[in-house]
Amino acid sequence: MTVFPIEKFKELKTPFYYYDMKLLEDTLSLVKKESARYDFHVHYAIKANANDRILDKIRVKGFGVDCVSGYEIQKALDVGFSPDGIVFAGVGKADWEIELGLKNDISCFNVESLPELEIINELAGRLGKKARVAFRINPNVHANTHHYITTGLDENKFGISMPDLEALLVQMQEMKNVQFEGMHFHIGSQITDLDNFKDLCLRVNELQEWFISKHLFPKIINVGGGFGIDYDDPDNNAMADFAPYFKVFKDFLNVKAGQEVHFELGRSIVAQPGNLISRVLYVKEGVKTKFAILDAGMTDLIRPALYQAKHKIENISADKSSQKLRYDVVGPICESSDSFGKAIDLPEMKRGDLVAIRSAGAYGEVMVSRYNLREEPEAFYSDDL
Ligand SMILES: *Cc1c(COP(=O)(O)O)cnc(C)c1O
Repeated sequence: MTVFPIEKFKELKTPFYYYDMKLLEDTLSLVKKESARYDFHVHYAIKANANDRILDKIRVKGFGVDCVSGYEIQKALDVGFSPDGIVFAGVGKADWEIELGLKNDISCFNVESLPELEIINELAGRLGKKARVAFRINPNVHANTHHYITTGLDENKFGISMPDLEALLVQMQEMKNVQFEGMHFHIGSQITDLDNFKDLCLRVNELQEWFISKHLFPKIINVGGGFGIDYDDPDNNAMADFAPYFKVFKDFLNVKAGQEVHFELGRSIVAQPGNLISRVLYVKEGVKTKFAILDAGMTDLIRPALYQAKHKIENISADKSSQKLRYDVVGPICESSDSFGKAIDLPEMKRGDLVAIRSAGAYGEVMVSRYNLREEPEAFYSDDL
C-alpha cells in the first residue's frame, strides 16, 4: 500500500507525479515470477509510461519493450534496452521508423497491413537486411472494456482481417527481405474478465492451425497486453492478479514445440505505482453541487476527459474519520470535460489540502500536454523523498 510522505509533499510545487518505486519493484518481481513459470516472454509497452527512472527499473529486471513509434524505439535504445527484445507495432509506421528498426535489428515488426509489409520488404532490401515480421491479426474477439480502448474487433483500424491475411500470404511468397516469425494480437486495454483472454487463446489455436495448413509455422505467438487493474481500490489491489492471468494462457493456448509465447504489458505494470498529487485551489458552491477546484487538470492527466476513466480521488491532508461531503472534483483548464469525477464523497475539502489522484502511472505522465501553456508537472520518487 502506498504511503504518502505528506510533510515532504507540503514543500513541493503542485501538481506533480509521485511514483511508489517499491510497489513498481514488487510488481515487476511478481510479473517476472509468474511469467517465468511457463517460460513466457514479457515486453513492457513503453507507451504507458516512458519516464527514465521507471524504464531503468524495468530494463534492469530483464524485460523487453513493445514500441508503437520510432521515437519509442529510439528511447528504448537510448536507455539501454537491447534491440533483440524490441518489438514494433502500429498501423502507420513511417519509412524512417521502419528504417530505424531495420538498422538496429529489432526483434520483430508486428505488421498491420499488406501495403506496410510491401514497404518493409522494400526498405529492408535497400538496406540489405531481412526483416523479421509477425502479423497482427484482428481476431474479432470482444473485450468487455470501454469502446475507445477496444482494438480487436472488425470495425477497429488495428490489425489484418482474415480475408486480407490470405492475400497477404500469397504476396509474401514473392518478398525476399521479410521473414515470417509468427502471429500478434492485442484485443484492447483494461480487461479484467479473464474469459476474454481465454476466448483469445481459443481463437489463436484455430489460427495457428490455419497457418500450419499453409505451410507456415508461427514460431512466435504474441498475445499483446491489455490486462486491467483495480482503479476503485488501489490500496487493497495494488498489484494485478498476474498468477491467474498467465495461467489462462498456460491452460488454453496450444503451444507447440519450438514456439515462444510473448506478452506486451503496459498498464498492469505501471498504473498503480503512479499518483498525481495536487492541491485544492478553491471550493465553490454551485447551484446543485460543490466544486472542489484543483490545480491539476486534464493537461496533467487526460484519461478522465478522454476515456471517461475514473480514478480514485483522496484528500490526503484530511483526517480520514471526518464527515464526508459531496463534490465535483474539477481542474482549472478551460474545457468542461476537465473533470476528475462527479458526486464524489470526500472529507471536507479546504483550500491548500493535498489531493492524490490514484492509479495514474499508466497513460498519465506520458500524455501530459501544454494546453493553456501550462508547465509540465514534475515527477518525484519514493526512493528520493
Ligand atoms: C497499448 C498496447 C499494449 C499495452 O496495453 P496495456 O493495456 O497497457 O497493457 C500492448 N500492445 C500493443 C500493440 C499496444 O498498442
